[in-house]
Amino acid sequence: MHEGAIVHSLLESAKEIRIKEKLKEITEIKIVVGRFHQIIKEVMLTNFEYMKTEYNGFENAVLNMTEEDVKVKCNYCGHEFSIDEPIFMCPQCDSFETELITGKELYIATMEGTK
Ligand SMILES: [Zn+2]
Repeated sequence: MHEGAIVHSLLESAKEIRIKEKLKEITEIKIVVGRFHQIIKEVMLTNFEYMKTEYNGFENAVLNMTEEDVKVKCNYCGHEFSIDEPIFMCPQCDSFETELITGKELYIATMEGTK
């Protein structure tokens, strides 16, 4: 259930943004999540619906989630590929000398609210 912990830290960050931007009521939070985190969207949204009620000004907020594919680059042959499973083997040359290009993202992209 690591979605709960992630939603909690996102809401903590969102709370700080809300204070800094002097927003009264938050209507939407857009987040970017890399598939590397293996988050289940439905669980994430359920947690958000439940946890947002503990935060002032987030009662009507909607969570909008954009998922980033996990992209890996092979350092041996230069091949770039997407993976669904955490297996970092190059399909072209079978090398494990690969590095993650995208997929580890986890941040608030934008936040909408009323002043
Ligand atoms: Zn390769």
